[in-house]
Amino acid sequence: MKIIRTIRALQLWRARQSSRNVHLGFVPTMGAFHAGHQSLMQRARRSCGTVVVSIFVNPLQFGPTEDLDEYPRPRQTDLALCRQAGVDVVFVPSRKDFYPPGFQTSVTVGVLTRPWEGAHRRTHFQGVTTVVAKLLNLVKPHRAFLGQKDYQQCCILNQMVTDLGQGVNMVMCPTIRESDGLALSSRNGYLSSSARRTAPVLYQALNMGASSIREGETSIKRIETVMQAHIRKTSNAKIDYLAVCHTETLEPLNHTRKKMVLLGAVRLGKVRLIDNVIVNTPV
Ligand code: AMP
Repeated sequence: MKIIRTIRALQLWRARQSSRNVHLGFVPTMGAFHAGHQSLMQRARRSCGTVVVSIFVNPLQFGPTEDLDEYPRPRQTDLALCRQAGVDVVFVPSRKDFYPPGFQTSVTVGVLTRPWEGAHRRTHFQGVTTVVAKLLNLVKPHRAFLGQKDYQQCCILNQMVTDLGQGVNMVMCPTIRESDGLALSSRNGYLSSSARRTAPVLYQALNMGASSIREGETSIKRIETVMQAHIRKTSNAKIDYLAVCHTETLEPLNHTRKKMVLLGAVRLGKVRLIDNVIVNTPV
């Protein structure tokens, strides 16, 4: 496995690949790997000749009161997990190399970035699209692998790649969960032991909403009430949003459709959990 630490070295490596007819898969990450990240690497490994993973804790996507300095950075363990997953190249740039003094470009996607996570983390998605746009320009992959866990992020990055004609096939991979349903996240380690016990309520609520749809419920209000009631009855989690949305525009729906996504975010103490479930109406 090759470890590349500078943009210049990555550009040289990428230029050398152009003469080889390889199918290149890319997994952008901030490190602190868990089984969710590993599943993306494994999926890339199965479908691409060469797999590149980036590890970069991107300062642009953290708000001023968020956890940039505390974000876990277990570099040696992360590199060992990449090796184990059969990754070919790990790109680990420094902050100064990636955003040198004078860096002043950003990539902004429009309406998709405004609701839900965008409303709660105002500069977050611009940070994500800026870093991923630059990474895609450098790595020039054929396919990039993203987790459904961050559903709105997947939609935004799809839109960006389409709008900018970047020609990358974006592959959304299933959310990997703990046995009690909690979606794996590098931030789950911040949960206190009592918050950790409560944390599965979000996924439970989303599943209850999905079940009510599958059983024929057509009132969006009642579906949302089912989800909210579960959280309120079983925890002291604060609900940021729980909504039934269009799978592509992410607009909140007034009527059920054939396919929908239930999006949710709650706060447990200082930790924010997000999750989602895609649901099809019975035919
Ligand atoms: P991060 O390192 O948190 O920026 O995430 C890197 C990638 O891993 C993103 O595409 C995430 O959506 C994905 N990811 C994070 N958690 C999970 C999970 N539990 N299951 C699947 N993919 C995930």
